[in-house]
Amino acid sequence: MAVSTDSPRSGTGVELERGQVAAACRDMFRRGWMPGTAGNVSVRVEGRVVISASGRAKGTMSMRDTVAVSAPDGLPLSGESKRPSAETAIHLAVYQTVPEADAVVHTHAPYSTALSAGIPVGGRAEFNQWELAKGLGVRDHSHVAVPVFANWADVPRIGRDVAAHLRDAGRNAPAVPALLISRHGVTTWGRDLTEAVNRLECVEMLCRLVLMTSGGRALPDGPESEEAP
Ligand SMILES: [Zn+2]
Repeated sequence: MAVSTDSPRSGTGVELERGQVAAACRDMFRRGWMPGTAGNVSVRVEGRVVISASGRAKGTMSMRDTVAVSAPDGLPLSGESKRPSAETAIHLAVYQTVPEADAVVHTHAPYSTALSAGIPVGGRAEFNQWELAKGLGVRDHSHVAVPVFANWADVPRIGRDVAAHLRDAGRNAPAVPALLISRHGVTTWGRDLTEAVNRLECVEMLCRLVLMTSGGRALPDGPESEEAP
């Protein structure tokens, strides 16, 4: 009788999730949200996290371009030969602080990234009275504020900032399932990959709508500041 190696300490038995992660990466590459090797996708299953491997071109991702890591520390599980994404710390910060999150998506989607550049670090992207904000699953979608984090070169530091924020934000009510990293990108999460990707789609379109309707004021060095003496 074959001995099962499908334990939380090994990377076997997660082929379905590997395929889901790879397919999501290819899809978001096609949408222009994961140019080159940018961005990463993960799914949590039974104490393990399946995440895109480091440095993989997202347009040609296959399940072989994924790696299973342990949920608490991000270390590759036994049998894994690839390095996890450098931004695994951001995913783990979400998993450690949001129990209902079982999928995280991080992309460099252009409108989200552009909007983040016009908001001071520590500030929030405000989405007021946009029907589309309903897609984020928050209680009151008439006013949604998405935090903007500093883009530290030391990615684990971003992870620590995110974990501290989510611990605090989640104390009274579930946090908005999205965050921006200044001049870097956008991260969303959900109960599964479909929900996380849908939320990213909503945030990216909300950022686009704000940029379209702000007359350039939502951008850094917009027309007003250029005209200033
Ligand atoms: Zn990134």
